[in-house]
Amino acid sequence: MEPIIIKGADKCPQCGSEQKNVEEVMNDLRETGLIPKESFKEGIAIQAALYDPTRQQVIATKFTIPIIQVRFEVCADCHTIYCTSVAVVFQQAEVARGTGRPFSPPQYKSN
Ligand SMILES: [Zn+2]
Repeated sequence: MEPIIIKGADKCPQCGSEQKNVEEVMNDLRETGLIPKESFKEGIAIQAALYDPTRQQVIATKFTIPIIQVRFEVCADCHTIYCTSVAVVFQQAEVARGTGRPFSPPQYKSN
């Protein structure tokens, strides 16, 4: 499925500044080599899988989970937090055999 993308503000809706704290910090991290140069080009996002574990939603062993991603910025001048985009992407998932759950539990080694 194609992602659903809703564009947000490209500058501060409060003061109109185009200076962005998140973008500046991410650029500094790229320049110092702490994150790869090609990572997080669209900024950072808060995201949540839209899967309700209290409801029986899984019939097939393979299914799609919608994931909502809210990207944001912080104005470098007035520090207003604002949304730069909202997206819904669709991730393919598979029920691990025998668990009945969409995600496998972490595997720990005993030694
Ligand atoms: Zn501002």
